[in-house]
Amino acid sequence: MLAVEDLTAGYGPVTALDGVSFTAARGQITAVLGANGAGKTTLLRTISGLVRPSRGSVRLGEHDLTTVAAERMARLGLAHVPEGRGVITELTVEENLRLGRLVRLRRVGAGDLDRAYALFPALAQRRRQSAHVLSGGERQMLVIARALMAEPTVLLLDEPSLGLAPRIVVQIFDLLASLVADDGLTVVLVEQNARSALSIADRGVVLNLGRLVVSDTAAALAGDEQLRHAYLGF
Ligand code: ATP
Repeated sequence: MLAVEDLTAGYGPVTALDGVSFTAARGQITAVLGANGAGKTTLLRTISGLVRPSRGSVRLGEHDLTTVAAERMARLGLAHVPEGRGVITELTVEENLRLGRLVRLRRVGAGDLDRAYALFPALAQRRRQSAHVLSGGERQMLVIARALMAEPTVLLLDEPSLGLAPRIVVQIFDLLASLVADDGLTVVLVEQNARSALSIADRGVVLNLGRLVVSDTAAALAGDEQLRHAYLGF
């Protein structure tokens, strides 16, 4: 379980995250929702050690992640897929995937590229091609697949649906749901697209101006009309 407690962080005088607490249970998808500037990206960056909190803690099992260097996070099982689909366009699809396993916990097994291609058949077809030729949806699949090559126990995903066609979003979200169901992966999913995120999430947290508004089951959040109108945009 990932436990965030009283997390407070910012950029100079700007407080982007203010006393946020919630837990993300193992084998569940926790959606982090809220408008632009709510602090969602900062939350993920603080969990993964890219931003240092001024207060609070992030616990993963017995580890307090706020004392762990960002580059050691992967070895503790944490993978962070930031916004923006940063594939390395000078490399092939397969070379991008191989990069992902440099940080893995266990010794390389033969199956993991095969597993990535089984999960993402579109990448298998393009394995020898430059990542430059990939569509937005394929790039999103590649950055998720690359993160999974490290065999994480916790996957932090920042806005995977941004700018993608609804059909592709459904495909990616279905895949996330199956990963969680099959592998017990813990997912923290930051999304502007609250409706889609809540359709696959177990729980959700809503942020506004850096503060936690509510943390509840996805069904309860999706069923709260006032909350939807005020914070979720649907
Ligand atoms: P978005 O959906 O637009 O990415 P968000 O919910 O992810 O929004 P954050 O990006 O975490 O929100 O931003 C939270 C606050 O911190 C905002 O007020 C933003 O302007 C500010 N902020 C974010 N990054 C920086 C930075 N590098 N320097 C200064 N302020 C920042």
